[in-house]
Amino acid sequence: MLTLPVFEYVQPATLDEVLRELAAHPGDCLMVAGGTDAVPNLKHRLHEPRRVVSLAGVADLNVVREDAAGLHLGALLTLTALTRLPQLQRDFPAVALAASLVASPQIRNMGTLGGNLCLDTRCTYYNQTYFWREALGFCLKKDGVRCHVVPQGKRCVAAHSSDVSPALIAYGAEVEIAGPGGRRRVSCDEFFVGDGIHNNVLEPDELVTRVTLPAAARGQRGAYRKLRPRAAIDFPMLSVAVAARGTRARVESLRVVVSALAAKPRLLGSLDPLVAGRPASEETFAAVAAAASKQCRPLINVAYDDDWRHAMVPVLVTRALRDAFAEGDS
Ligand SMILES: Cc1cc2nc3c(=O)[nH]c(=O)nc-3n(C[C@H](O)[C@H](O)[C@H](O)COP(=O)(O)OP(=O)(O)OC[C@H]3O[C@@H](n4cnc5c(N)ncnc54)[C@H](O)[C@@H]3O)c2cc1C
Ligand code: SF4
Repeated sequence: MLTLPVFEYVQPATLDEVLRELAAHPGDCLMVAGGTDAVPNLKHRLHEPRRVVSLAGVADLNVVREDAAGLHLGALLTLTALTRLPQLQRDFPAVALAASLVASPQIRNMGTLGGNLCLDTRCTYYNQTYFWREALGFCLKKDGVRCHVVPQGKRCVAAHSSDVSPALIAYGAEVEIAGPGGRRRVSCDEFFVGDGIHNNVLEPDELVTRVTLPAAARGQRGAYRKLRPRAAIDFPMLSVAVAARGTRARVESLRVVVSALAAKPRLLGSLDPLVAGRPASEETFAAVAAAASKQCRPLINVAYDDDWRHAMVPVLVTRALRDAFAEGDS
């Protein structure tokens, strides 16, 4: 049986109290929201904090607000709440769909938006017990000096495994971060960095407070596809999110995000020349799928064949595009 390590547990009631906790114990705190990823990771000794700071009591983080700027989602909203939010289903359907495909109903009832965004990266050589990792000599991400996926590499290439993040990036969402100096906002794409040791821009004394889906991104066609061994529970081994403008007769613009391959989701580049002014036809989809295949290089960071995951990139992109343009104006 895997046990929890010893730590002090605090449950602040306000955001200011959380920030004071983080500032008073720099680098010694692990924040926990729903705990669905943090608790197993604590049991595997992947995190060894002195203090665990629960965010569950901070009511200010559990809010939904809509205004002229867009739809603001508090970091503590559960994934189940996201799947049921009418504004999300109507205006940003790929986000609601991605949330509905995370894990299982029980995990979606506990798991939060902030936790999904800040989910630790995953790797065959990392998501193991201490005993297993010790036998291998550990790795760069925790306790070791070498990466087993890219042995000459200087950074970790563990897989970004959040389902909701690629969909948020497709719609151009922004992340609000609170810290000792106040609040700052970054685009969801820039929130992530390409090193899987700590794959986002958060400082140890900062947390995510909310995510904003911009009003200008409303009214797009959206889709989300996820490749996983079983139809429930499993993390993605490849995922594709799409946000598109236009009719089936004439596509105007397209954003495609491919994820679960590297430490950061990849917003594909140079797609508009392939689609703008063209019909949403199989020929157009094939051009986008080919571009996606060229831009994505899976690594052996999860326990599934990298060539097969690569071969599935154009397949999943095509399926997501078909979903996005399946109905509506011809
Ligand atoms: C069996 C199983 C299957 C799973 N399958 C999937 C899946 O298919 N897809 C998927 O996306 N996820 C999956 N997960 C992971 C997880 O359940 C979800 O990602 C969930 O949304 C995490 O939210 P949480 O609130 O439980 O996060 P927690 O476990 O509480 O936290 C996760 C990380 O985020 C940090 N964090 C939490 N909130 C904040 C915040 N506001 N600001 C800064 N940092 C924060 C924590 O410090 C921690 O590092 C699975 C988990 C399990 C156990
Ligand atoms: S990618 Fe390399 S450094 Fe990162 S968790 Fe895997 S083995 Fe460790």
